[in-house]
Amino acid sequence: MNKILLIGPQGSGKSTQAKLLAEFLKIPLISTGDILREKAEVDETIRQVLNEGHLVDDQTIARIVKDRLSKDDCLNGCVIDGYPRTLEQMRLFDPGFDKVFSLDVPEEIVVKRLMSRGRADDTLELIKRRLDLYYKQTEPLLDYYKKLGILINIRGLGDIETIQQDLRNHITYDQVKKSV
Ligand code: AMP
Repeated sequence: MNKILLIGPQGSGKSTQAKLLAEFLKIPLISTGDILREKAEVDETIRQVLNEGHLVDDQTIARIVKDRLSKDDCLNGCVIDGYPRTLEQMRLFDPGFDKVFSLDVPEEIVVKRLMSRGRADDTLELIKRRLDLYYKQTEPLLDYYKKLGILINIRGLGDIETIQQDLRNHITYDQVKKSV
């Protein structure tokens, strides 16, 4: 089993890195942001939460992720981008990660990156709100994973390939073999 979490503030490059890592390991990428953006097209409540830069409630997202992980394609593991984001979510449903990568990028750099990507939900106000939520609610998870001994800090500065290589260097041969 190969359950990997990528955690980091928005603009840290975690989605890009998660996608590349999932391709490398040939296991599914589960991005809660993607799932929720898709649901927002038909669900007014979710659309509003996303548009306001808030977090979807813990029960809803915990259920969505639990359902998704029970699908057959996750039998050999998966790379998760975006869940859990709070300690409460982890209490409600803990995927049981083997490894947790934290992509570390200084705040002023993520703000600069987000402002330049120009997504509809990337106004300065929303960016600040989401970063605030990250530092308040998501960072405490890092302490928890650190205590479990599964946290790996990755420097998220530099080019995409170098960061990806850094991540892969922490994946053991055993884990690669299991996923093919
Ligand atoms: P992301 O693409 O990961 O930045 O997520 C985009 C948005 O989806 C976030 O700003 C939240 O509103 C929502 N979202 C994604 N993952 C979660 C989660 N685990 N819990 C609550 N809301 C989430």
